[in-house]
Formats: sequence, C-alpha cells, structure tokens
Amino acid sequence: MITTADETLLRHAIGIAARAVTLGDAPYGSLLAGPDGAILAEAHNTVRRDNDITAHPELKLARWAARELDPEAATRTTLYTSCEPCTMCAGGIVRSGLGRVVYALSTEQLVELNPQSGEWPTVAQDGPALFDEARAPIDVYYRPY
Ligand SMILES: [Zn+2]
Repeated sequence: MITTADETLLRHAIGIAARAVTLGDAPYGSLLAGPDGAILAEAHNTVRRDNDITAHPELKLARWAARELDPEAATRTTLYTSCEPCTMCAGGIVRSGLGRVVYALSTEQLVELNPQSGEWPTVAQDGPALFDEARAPIDVYYRPY
C-alpha cells in the first residue's frame, strides 16, 4: 500500500528524474529513505554521461546501500523511484537487501509512453556444461574448514 508519506517521497524521486533531463541525462530518478522517511541518498540515470550501461539510479543506490549500510539498516530502507526497476536493477536491489521499493510508472506504462523502452532482445544462453571442471573453483572456495 502506498501512503501519503510514500507519495511525498515518490514526488521527490520524480523531481530527480525531471532534474536529470535538465542536465542532459535520461529521465529516471531514485532516492533511498530510512524508516523515518529521511533521505539517505539520491541518484539519477547517468548512462549517457558515464558511458556505463549499469548507471541506473536504482542500481547505484543498491550498490551504495550494500557498501555503506549494515544489512539490518538496509532492510529498513525504502527505494523510491520514478519508474519500476528493470531486471538488472531488481537483481541488485535483492542482493543489497533493501527492504522495499515504491515506484511511480510501471514498466508497462513507460513502454506506452515510449515504445523504445520496451525493445530489449532476449540473449541466447546455452548451459549447463562442464560440470566437473566448473565445480572445482566452487568446491575450493566453499570447502569447509
Ligand atoms: Zn535499471
């Protein structure tokens, strides 16, 4: 459920997205808030500026949280973002242990507004293969002491 307090922070994330456009960056913005609603960090999409396909604001904040917060603190945060996180960012959010995500536009709504946003090809994947060889570094790393 999205509360009035959530909407206030979500509007702030939309404002970050709007500001990104004025800086020449793509129109996506996010912030990470603590349990009291205090803003801990903000980010916007800098894919073009940084020539970095991973420079989505949600992933930047997930990485920031994993680096700067202890796991317990991370679970008490909420990521507010102007658009629903993509699959790359969703993976980072899960690994960083953030507690919750609140987004404005869904991916479906974004694609309706900009059909190019939905044109992601699938990549052929083959595997598994070479089990005995591939397991060796895994066994060494996780060998019980
Ligand atoms: Zn993303």
